[in-house]
Amino acid sequence: MSHLESGLIRPDTGRSWLSQFGNWLIDLIFPPVCSCGRVDYHFCAGCLKELLRFPLESRIVSGEALKGLASTGIYDGILENAIRSFKYDGVTGLDKHLAERLQRTYEQTHWSIDLIIPVPLAEKRLGERGYNQSEMLGARMSKDCGIPCRSDFMRRIRETDQQARLSGEQRMANVRNAFEASDAVKGLAILLIDDVVTTGSTLNECARALKRAGARAVYGLTVGRA
Ligand SMILES: [Zn+2]
Repeated sequence: MSHLESGLIRPDTGRSWLSQFGNWLIDLIFPPVCSCGRVDYHFCAGCLKELLRFPLESRIVSGEALKGLASTGIYDGILENAIRSFKYDGVTGLDKHLAERLQRTYEQTHWSIDLIIPVPLAEKRLGERGYNQSEMLGARMSKDCGIPCRSDFMRRIRETDQQARLSGEQRMANVRNAFEASDAVKGLAILLIDDVVTTGSTLNECARALKRAGARAVYGLTVGRA
C-alpha cells in the first residue's frame, strides 16, 4: 500500500530534477489540499480507500450516432473528487483505479470492440495540462483488456470552448464538426473513452466523425456521468 500511496500523494508531472524541484517548491509555498480537506496531500490514502470502495453503478444506454453509451457511476462524491484530481491536479497515479472501473463496466456491456479511441483534448487544454486524461485512461484500459488503443486516429480540427461553461444546446453547436477521424477506422467497431459524459454532445460528435470515416459501429464509455 505504501508505494501506492506515495504515488498518489504528489502528482507525477515530470521526472527531471528541475521539475521535481519546481513541484517541491510550489508545494512548499502553496501546500496541496486533498478534496477531503487534508493538507499536504493531492489525493490522500483515506480518499483512495473510499474510491476503491465506491460501488460500480454502471448504466448502459443506446444513443444516436453512438450505438451504446456506458458509464461506471454518477459524477459525484469521491468519484468526482478522484476525476478532478486526476484531470486538474496531475494525480495521474489514479489512472489504474479509474481504468479498472471502465474495464469492469465494459465487461457488463457485452459489446464487441476492435479498437479503443480516447476523446481528443483541445490543443490549448493539452498545452496547459500537459496530458490528455482520456488518452491515459484508454491506454491503461488497453493494457488491461488487450484491445488496441489509438489516439492518433482522431483529432480536433478546430478550437472549441470549454463544454463545462455551456448549456446543452450551446454544447452541441460548440463541438459540431470539430473532429476528424482517420480512414484507418473503416469497418471497425470503436470504443470511445472519456472521463465524464454530461449531455453526450462531445461523444456523439466524435461518433459522427468516426462514422463519416467508415467505422462500422461506435460505442462510448466514461468513468462518470454528470
Ligand atoms: Zn483526502
